[in-house]
Amino acid sequence: MKILVAEDDRVSRLLMQRTLTKFGYEVVLAEDGRQAVEILSQHDAPRLALIDWMMPELDGPSLCREMRAQHRDTPYVYIILLTSKQSSEDVVAGLEAGADDYLTKPCQMAELRARLHTGHRILSLEDRLVKAREEMRYRATHDALTGIWNRASILSLVRSELQRGARELRPVSLLLCDVDHFKSVNDNYGHIIGDQILEEVAKRFKDEVRGYDAVGRYGGEEFLIVLSDCDTASLEVRAEALRRSIADSPLLIDDLVISITISIGGTTCGKAAVDLPLELILAEADTALYQAKARGRNRSVFASNGTSQATGPISISA
Ligand SMILES: [Mg+2]
Repeated sequence: MKILVAEDDRVSRLLMQRTLTKFGYEVVLAEDGRQAVEILSQHDAPRLALIDWMMPELDGPSLCREMRAQHRDTPYVYIILLTSKQSSEDVVAGLEAGADDYLTKPCQMAELRARLHTGHRILSLEDRLVKAREEMRYRATHDALTGIWNRASILSLVRSELQRGARELRPVSLLLCDVDHFKSVNDNYGHIIGDQILEEVAKRFKDEVRGYDAVGRYGGEEFLIVLSDCDTASLEVRAEALRRSIADSPLLIDDLVISITISIGGTTCGKAAVDLPLELILAEADTALYQAKARGRNRSVFASNGTSQATGPISISA
């Protein structure tokens, strides 16, 4: 494991390096506080730091304050201050500045080792906490079955994309895609196969869209796709590609070859859409989807080019 030693006194620095190397650490050296902050701010920086209190440029407590003021998305650095000071106010000041622990110079080997051990324990707790938080965030935003955005997340992505689109004067298109006759697929093959079909559909959608588009699970067998900077003309091309990504090659699931199709309802939103309730915009895509179903499935219908006029669409052209 890497450890940073920041110490302006050359002899102390080399002694500490020798000791820590014997302990098995990969030692990184800094000669003053400023250099130490630079090293600790780099990618893949040491997570453990032994910092001398009195140093030129930046002293130990100031270094702690700078490190703790940095963004929380960088990994936590466990900081031990080295002090030759004895008064308890100094120690309090160091800990309040953000140090995790302190050691009085000259350090006793056994004590140094024990304090470093504590540092390791805190860091591994911190790592587990970060990992748990990331897993929770992932689970809260992604669909458990397919791994794509869940309903709440895709809806919030629609909102932010509409805002961005309005700001940048770029159209945003939405596609509501529904697996045709999914109920009978489930009845014929069972729910386990049905689930695998949904996984494969999600995968094909993700492969088909661009990196900055978003694919989410809107409901059971319904998917909502958000296409940024996509006008009506390109929407039709994109929808057709998505439709064909499902219809043109049968799904291979276990030993089964299953042909399925999807129906798509699409709508393109201009600047004005940002002021409309999201429900209205989605209702428009839903109406278009309903029409695609009614016209025989395995096709796309688009609201904004007037194909779903029968149900009185909202005018949301740019
Ligand atoms: Mg010093």
